[in-house]
Amino acid sequence: MPTFLSNISSKLPDATTSIFAVMSKMAHEEQAINLSQGYPDFPSSPQLIELVTKAMREGYNQYAPMPGIFSLRGVIADKILSLYGAEYNPETEITITAGATQAIYTIITAMVQTGDEVVIFAPAYDCYDPAVRINGGKTVEIELKAPDFKIDWQLVKASLSERTKMIIINTPHNPTGTVMSKDDMKQLEDLVKNTDIVVLSDEVYEHIVFDGEAHQSVARFPGLAERSFLVASFGKTFHNTGWKMGYCAGPAALMAEFRNVHQYNVFSVNHPVQRALATYMKSSENYLSLSEFFQQKRDLFLSAIEKSKFSFKPSKGTYFQLLEYKAISNDNDIELAKRWTKEKKIASIPISVFYKQGVDNKYLRFCFAKSDETLMRGAEILNKID
Ligand code: PMP
Ligand code: GLN
Repeated sequence: MPTFLSNISSKLPDATTSIFAVMSKMAHEEQAINLSQGYPDFPSSPQLIELVTKAMREGYNQYAPMPGIFSLRGVIADKILSLYGAEYNPETEITITAGATQAIYTIITAMVQTGDEVVIFAPAYDCYDPAVRINGGKTVEIELKAPDFKIDWQLVKASLSERTKMIIINTPHNPTGTVMSKDDMKQLEDLVKNTDIVVLSDEVYEHIVFDGEAHQSVARFPGLAERSFLVASFGKTFHNTGWKMGYCAGPAALMAEFRNVHQYNVFSVNHPVQRALATYMKSSENYLSLSEFFQQKRDLFLSAIEKSKFSFKPSKGTYFQLLEYKAISNDNDIELAKRWTKEKKIASIPISVFYKQGVDNKYLRFCFAKSDETLMRGAEILNKID
């Protein structure tokens, strides 16, 4: 349809379509095994689906309260207290959101003003930078160096300025599968002491941490908790990314600002799903079993590709595994991911898209939140690539 507007001034003039949309579409068109976008190919719990259906039948089909239903906020507060030892008041310090993406956008919109700087670590999940720019801010990118992708805290210190409004961390980390240690968190706690810097802690993979390690939530560190928004995603935890449900926790003063925006950009989120989650989350086994469940998948996938030409360090958290392909090809990772989707029938995510300057360290990301059968078929293809 032609438009009569001749001069649309884009707020994101450089934006391209998200890599997740591009690769999943291509995987579908090419009938390739889709290990690209991060979502399970197995069903969500039948009990949880039953609970949603029940809530709909019982009539919970109108708007939920603006911050979310109280019973769900209550079980979240209980969970944070028992896992991380921090008290969040469900009345004033927890809000239910339409997934982590909305929580992140809302936090950034509530906090970032024109000229503000936001520190991010690259490779960085793709929704942070555009949200900062739309709100008139600028991201300051700190590179995590391959192959360990560790945070260089000296570099972080040097990158802070009077304009630094926020630091965004993400542990376990998408796309590298690394986790922040207790020492990392303490370094961050020290760094922000006596500043007005707010921390956005993207913890959507909090329940997917491997090899017996404990998840280092900001909630465990008082000097961080007092200035942090903690972001979580039910989609990642309960195998239903399509429901787009999550939550945000933070101290009352920050949460008040969050809700000022939340009430106008979404007001409230899916009511029957909130009812179901409030019941389902009462059994902690439903989320505490996740690490073991995904560790088995990681191990199955990695042992199946042991003899392939890829090199890798086992993922420490998330359901993603980076594979380095230097021994196979020198091609640009975006081109290679697309070519292998078409020619080898396996889709992955190139990592260079998560850096502002498109740093290409020759890694592809593979999602192992898949049935064992899908993983074995994927491994078979990867083993044949040379
Ligand atoms: N942050 C990270 C690091 C993610 O991987 C994702 C994708 N689940 C999100 C945020 C967004 O989560 P949601 O699907 O709940 O919006
Ligand atoms: N978080 C998912 C991933 O990393 C994708 C979510 C999305 O498609 N925006 O693959």
